Amino acid sequence: MRRKLVVGNWKMHGSRPANAELLAALLAGRPYRADVAVCVPSIYLNETAATLAGSDLRWGAQDVSAHEQGAYTGEISAAMLAECGCRYTLVGHSERRACHAETDALVAAKAQAALARGVTPIVCVGETLAERDAGQTEAVVKRQLSAVITRLAHCAAEMVVAYEPVWAIGTGRTASPEQALAVHAVLRAQLQAATGHGAAMTILYGGSVKPDNAATLFAQADIDGGLIGGASLKAADFIAICRAAH
Ligand code: PEP
Repeated sequence: MRRKLVVGNWKMHGSRPANAELLAALLAGRPYRADVAVCVPSIYLNETAATLAGSDLRWGAQDVSAHEQGAYTGEISAAMLAECGCRYTLVGHSERRACHAETDALVAAKAQAALARGVTPIVCVGETLAERDAGQTEAVVKRQLSAVITRLAHCAAEMVVAYEPVWAIGTGRTASPEQALAVHAVLRAQLQAATGHGAAMTILYGGSVKPDNAATLFAQADIDGGLIGGASLKAADFIAICRAAH
């Protein structure tokens, strides 16, 4: 039985007082039956680590450099994330693919850099509305995942995958459980064929998950939890979503 995982993606939101309040509420909301993590802006990783250390809540980053170290101004290495106690880092979020022109190859290199330092990459894949309407959903997510599987080779089973249809992110439009499940099944079959461990791997759904749809989504056989954007910034909503995962 796979354990559920709920990950908050704060994106570029937060402030010291707001973060302190949110993390205190998440700590007070325990216990959760699922594993729970927050992916915070890197500038707040140390404070998040100090607040959550010793608890069962986990933390991570929203991106990582593909490079080990060197003249890469503004980038943050996987070793630095590991130093901050990061359990996870997102890679290939659609906002980075779209706004920072991240390619499948770069996403794969970032996933590899993270794993090499013991930070679990949460690899985001998902189609745009145009791609869905053109009947390309399966081909797009398989291509995105395939690049990472190839690069990680024998370590591929160690990643977490997040299916995030781009048209559902921050739009209030959620994939139906059937739509999500269909893609999760495709991804799990691909992971199983490539690694032999697909049945044990964690595949999250992300895209306008809210307290009122979380339980139905998380009840689907192949959905192992969620990657939560907007709702992870509101303590009551995120706690309700975490409680819906078990
Ligand atoms: C996300 O940013 O990964 C996300 C799923 O956002 P939202 O929950 O706001 O759609």
